[in-house]
Amino acid sequence: MNLTLEYHRSASRYFAGRAVTGAVGGARTAAAVAANLSPLRLVMRPEPRLPDGGWTRVRPILSGICGSDLGLLTGRNSPYLSPVISMPFTPGHEVVGETLDDLPDIPRGSRVVLDPVLGCAPRGVDSCEWCSAGAEAELAEPSLAGVSGRSVGEHSRCNHITTGRVSAGIQTGFCGDTGGGWSQVFVAHASQLHLVPDALDDISAVMVEPLACAIHTVRRTPIADGASVLVVGAGTVGLLTVLALREHTKAGPIYVVARYPHQREKAREMGATEVLSSDRPARALRRSTGAFLAHPERGDEYLLGGTDIAFECTAGGGLDTAVRAVRAGGTVVLSGMPNASVDLTPVWFRELRLIGAYASGGRDFPDALALAQVAPLRSYVDAIYPLGRWREAIGHASAAGRLGTIKVAFDPQKD
Ligand SMILES: [Zn+2]
Repeated sequence: MNLTLEYHRSASRYFAGRAVTGAVGGARTAAAVAANLSPLRLVMRPEPRLPDGGWTRVRPILSGICGSDLGLLTGRNSPYLSPVISMPFTPGHEVVGETLDDLPDIPRGSRVVLDPVLGCAPRGVDSCEWCSAGAEAELAEPSLAGVSGRSVGEHSRCNHITTGRVSAGIQTGFCGDTGGGWSQVFVAHASQLHLVPDALDDISAVMVEPLACAIHTVRRTPIADGASVLVVGAGTVGLLTVLALREHTKAGPIYVVARYPHQREKAREMGATEVLSSDRPARALRRSTGAFLAHPERGDEYLLGGTDIAFECTAGGGLDTAVRAVRAGGTVVLSGMPNASVDLTPVWFRELRLIGAYASGGRDFPDALALAQVAPLRSYVDAIYPLGRWREAIGHASAAGRLGTIKVAFDPQKD
């Protein structure tokens, strides 16, 4: 049998959760979980079936709790995603685990990390334009040609995520048939698995999936040598974005908006030039960039001038900060799921480019595996819980910044 955290929510509960929690912050998220609003249940289930011989069972060693998981648990995520997930499902898409079945290039007992995207290959369907022809597809966006050096498919853009051998689901952890990392066993297709080198410890390995997403994010827009960059947010996504910027671009100054002391320290360690307080970041950035600070009669200050590029890494109010802090003609990249409404006037008035960054593709996973071996990631998972203490784990993850934590994870094999 398979101890499993299962997510159930009908559409009506979904919207009830959204109305009750509204635009929640960490403390209110934790309160919502404590008030038993959470649609999670700890249950015993049979192991998920193997869809065909190209799949293996995986026993998770560590499974991270991601911001998108927390958004889901409190009903903050947009209903936009409802047709491309299937319920009930087991969350958990940041996974290092051990395989339980033999595959051609992955013998049973291999330590692996999971690329959770459920594109055409795992689904066993004819490849869509993104899964089959990533290199050509990427070249169709001339501004990006040569930036990313992609050689394999961009499966994160897959068009077939509702068809094939497994039920609808953008990723493992949002699909009713595969199981997910918050259980003792789930199933994964060979194409989703990457072997973990012996030198990489489990804690660094569980950071590989978010790191692959961060590398993907910085590859979504050309970054000129010496370009000034703002990273809004210094949780897992923001910190790994700084790391990816330093490793994969020749960005100039990197300014990071951080709320908590441990985040400021880690942002500097990752290569931030200057760490800005989350209280009036535009004012702090004016001093560093020589921009003009404008004061609207309502709402936050903004810059005329500012940085060349901004990365929104808060999945919340950070987008408003980002669009108010980049120069005219600059670029704002959305990493993480946007959950807040925003005044788009600056996008129009300053002629900004607004770019999405979802999951990872191409070489991002292999590059993340290589970078994880040399980056100081061992200190990034500060709390590990058994599945049975899931309420505590979710509460801790929801208040991670305030509690001095970066990443909370489950050890699903621990009692
Ligand atoms: Zn596809």
